[in-house]
Amino acid sequence: MEGMMMHRPLLVSNILEYGMNAHRKAGITSVRTEGDIHSYTYPEAGARIAQLAHGLRRRGVQIGDRVATLAWNGYRHFELYYAVGGIGAICHTINPRLSAEQLIYIVNHAEDKLLFLDTTFVPVIAAVAEHLPDDLTFVIMTDRAHMPDTPFDALCYEELLEGEEEAIAWPELDENTACGLCYTSGTTGHPKGALYSNRSSVLHALTLVVSQKRSFEEGKPILPVVPLFHVNAWGLPYVAPMIGASLVMPGPALDGPSLFKLMDQEKVYSAWGVPTVWMGLLGEIKAQGRIPEGFGDVVIGGSAAPRSMIEAFETRGVAVGHAWGMTEMSPIGTHGCLPAWMEELPFEERIDAKTKQGRRCYGVDLKIVDEDGKVLPQDGEAVGELYVRGNAVVAGYFRNPEASADSHDADGWFATGDVASVDPDGFLSIQDRAKDLIKSGGEWISSIDLENAATAHPAIAQCAAIGVPHPRWDERPVLVAVAAGEDRPTAEDLHELLSEHFAKWQMPDDIIWLDSLPMTATGKVSKLTLRKTLGDYQHP
Ligand code: ADP
Repeated sequence: MEGMMMHRPLLVSNILEYGMNAHRKAGITSVRTEGDIHSYTYPEAGARIAQLAHGLRRRGVQIGDRVATLAWNGYRHFELYYAVGGIGAICHTINPRLSAEQLIYIVNHAEDKLLFLDTTFVPVIAAVAEHLPDDLTFVIMTDRAHMPDTPFDALCYEELLEGEEEAIAWPELDENTACGLCYTSGTTGHPKGALYSNRSSVLHALTLVVSQKRSFEEGKPILPVVPLFHVNAWGLPYVAPMIGASLVMPGPALDGPSLFKLMDQEKVYSAWGVPTVWMGLLGEIKAQGRIPEGFGDVVIGGSAAPRSMIEAFETRGVAVGHAWGMTEMSPIGTHGCLPAWMEELPFEERIDAKTKQGRRCYGVDLKIVDEDGKVLPQDGEAVGELYVRGNAVVAGYFRNPEASADSHDADGWFATGDVASVDPDGFLSIQDRAKDLIKSGGEWISSIDLENAATAHPAIAQCAAIGVPHPRWDERPVLVAVAAGEDRPTAEDLHELLSEHFAKWQMPDDIIWLDSLPMTATGKVSKLTLRKTLGDYQHP
């Protein structure tokens, strides 16, 4: 027997309407590419979003059309999320750090109809414009006074809104209508598109609110340092209007001093981003000898948060949530809030727990399997490939039947490509990407564990453990590191520190010092590039 309840579609336009109505004093503060700060409330945002939606329709945008963005975190980008998704079109966020080749591939693959870009990215588009579709319309996200010279025809964002009505009756779409598209940065092969629906986006936001709950409180501003072009800024543009928190958008300036200043001014409570960004902020916190006013919560994800980073925040009274996820999961899979009984534990034990990647969010199922596909126990010991299932997990890739066919098991679970264990308390421990695990003499070594332990050495600012080919052992670990100061410890010096956690054969054979580590488009250390650089590495 079916229940006798209404069925209302889950739509992103409804999140906006709710925020405008229930949280009318909250809103968005943005650092603009024009150089100043812009602030408005959700009702004011809603009026402009209505204008933009009318403007898009006037330009012929229809349900299912892709509208691309190449932009920093700012209010106009937020407006695009809701205007495009609200009318049933698809907001295709492009990562400006992609290579020219990848950018050309995805714009053509997505068949974008319009491309909205910040003034900053005019040179990026100018360099590839001849390889983009002829009928693609460019819109520069600024006003007439700030319109730059462009070698391609472009409209002005503010002119697109001018004269349009400030109200709109959002269409009652089927909740499965797509609203967002994000390509993985694709370390091998072409990038693959995750196509989010209205339903998955709403459910993901709800899931985040109930799981990563200590980050969210009405009236406490949230800073997404994670870009709007990287998996919906982890869902925050949908969460904030739901809960009545203001969003603080940092624009292009993501260095430690700029972030500190903005956080201080806006009294940011919760800040979200990848570990590399927090290294910069922590540097500024140490330089100033204080944390920004109001700062109480940081969510770290995208790659493993080093233990030393978690400690540095926690000792200063900033609670760390270590989360894990993927573009294919909208993206949050696990959250970093500790259960109440763990909050009572001594400091060291709490840090131990936070070094793991958290517990699954409500609505996300996890399983780890061995090489034969047999499900392994979640006992904290068994290590296997991680599979996931949930309402905000991809069922396949956009226009890519080959990749879609390989991405799921026979029962429909998505293969993450991560190797992990899950402990009896439900905490996930990511050991590695399957392809980054180091295999020495037939035994696996976790590069994440090595990196985590090595960054505890005061001389090491940042590092990556890489497997390099070895004639006898197949592969041996080598540490590539960036120095924190003048000191350059040898591998033997490091072994002393590591011996507490690692057997002798698991220790890196060598340390190679670089001025900086190569990064991927999403701000992670690019091990692929490092492996290429170390291609002709000679063992000592
Ligand atoms: P991209 O591949 O575009 O960089 P994703 O953000 O989708 O983007 O990358 C997802 C992968 O990042 C995960 O499969 C995992 O390997 C890694 N990752 C994400 N969060 C963490 C974390 N907290 N600890 C370790 N690895 C992580």
